[in-house]
Amino acid sequence: MFPTDPDVLVIGAGCAGIAAARELAARGRRCIVLEGGPRVGGRAFTDATGLGLPFDHGASWLHEANDNPLTPIARTLGVELTDHDAIRDRRLFAFGRFATAAERRSFADAEDAFWTAIDAAAHDGAPDRPAAEAAPRKGVWDAAVAHWEGAQICAAELSLMSLHDFAATALEGPNLVTPGGIGGLVARLATGLPVRLGARVDRLRWGARGVTAEGTFGAVTARSAIVTVSTGVLAADAIAFDPPLPVPTREAIHALPLGLLTKIGFRADHPAAPDLPAFAVVRRAASAEEDRPMSWVSRLFGQPSLIAFCGGARAWEIAGDAAAAAEAARQEAAMVYGSRAAAALARPVVTRWAEDPLFRGAYSHARPGGQGARRELARPLADGRLCFAGEACHPRFAATVAGAWLSGVEAARSVP
Ligand SMILES: Cc1cc2nc3c(=O)[nH]c(=O)nc-3n(C[C@H](O)[C@H](O)[C@H](O)COP(=O)(O)OP(=O)(O)OC[C@H]3O[C@@H](n4cnc5c(N)ncnc54)[C@H](O)[C@@H]3O)c2cc1C
Repeated sequence: MFPTDPDVLVIGAGCAGIAAARELAARGRRCIVLEGGPRVGGRAFTDATGLGLPFDHGASWLHEANDNPLTPIARTLGVELTDHDAIRDRRLFAFGRFATAAERRSFADAEDAFWTAIDAAAHDGAPDRPAAEAAPRKGVWDAAVAHWEGAQICAAELSLMSLHDFAATALEGPNLVTPGGIGGLVARLATGLPVRLGARVDRLRWGARGVTAEGTFGAVTARSAIVTVSTGVLAADAIAFDPPLPVPTREAIHALPLGLLTKIGFRADHPAAPDLPAFAVVRRAASAEEDRPMSWVSRLFGQPSLIAFCGGARAWEIAGDAAAAAEAARQEAAMVYGSRAAAALARPVVTRWAEDPLFRGAYSHARPGGQGARRELARPLADGRLCFAGEACHPRFAATVAGAWLSGVEAARSVP
């Protein structure tokens, strides 16, 4: 299965690595994918064991489905895709109760005003600045909208993010879900690829004459390498590059840190568990700027699950302490659904993206002033002998499986 004399080493078997390996195979190039972990898929990972039903620890929607490269691929495979936007019951919890229809409309108006302000500021010709500086602040829903668009969607507060990158990478629907999970779909796409699991690369020698990857698995040499590990892994110097990476590449890596989104997945099959319809989405509106609520997705495909989403600073606070994360989610559940319903939720599964040294966070955002970093990181080095790919490299679909996939394909086309 593994070529003895590969043309290309792909480092990492997440979405970008899988896409790169498929593209290389389609071009008749011999490659080996070196994956440090025990499975393929990376941050797209569906686990059916913890909750006893498919639970996406990472990616769970195909965003911007009409332009998402994985939509047609999934359709070709006959994978069932459901437009979540078309069927989801959207609930908003505010002022200690569920909001009325009129309140939900006024919240939606505040979201529209938020995006109008962001887009106007991103095009006003002024230098880049934190996205928070362009966000409306005085309205009754503004703190809630800022928390939702920042910490909950982008996994980082708006104050930490480049306005220009935030505007350029904003996502629209349709948002598709699938019963077997997005991780299940991505894992299927690795079928038949030459992936060597448990092969963590510790050192990469690179230059005009080729590349050599080294780790406890030994050493493998090829003409070029595509490195798809997260910017969290790169920033931690978990791979020693020899010679060291050029300064612009290193600066780009540090301009694209990972935010954190932690999911706390509960089984909800007790009769007293929160009574929500299938596919419902519940948000609690932040009551003030320092309030950092979680949001919820209920009973996807009718399965007895209730998933809490906790993003940004609050997720970092509870990282590494699954019991604290579970307790925080239970308190949120008590606030929104009542203490009896919260007590009826079973022991949860808590995702661990921050603690896992193969990831070190959820997905990237650009720091203020770092709006050019994605293109810089994607720039091939040594005439294409060393290329970086992954979600952080895509200037439009960053932070998504779509961006990872497209950047993997692009890198595979760039190697000599
Ligand atoms: C909680 C969460 C929710 C998300 N929700 C969505 C969503 O709904 N929709 C969406 O589109 N996206 C979502 N994303 C983002 C999406 O999952 C990622 O953007 C995408 O999967 C990243 O793919 P990648 O190939 O760039 O990186 P990765 O998936 O991180 O792949 C890199 C691979 O490299 C391996 N690796 C690391 N270090 C080494 C080493 N030294 N040697 C060898 N291998 C190594 C890793 O194990 C990993 O398999 C979410 C992510 C998270 C964490």
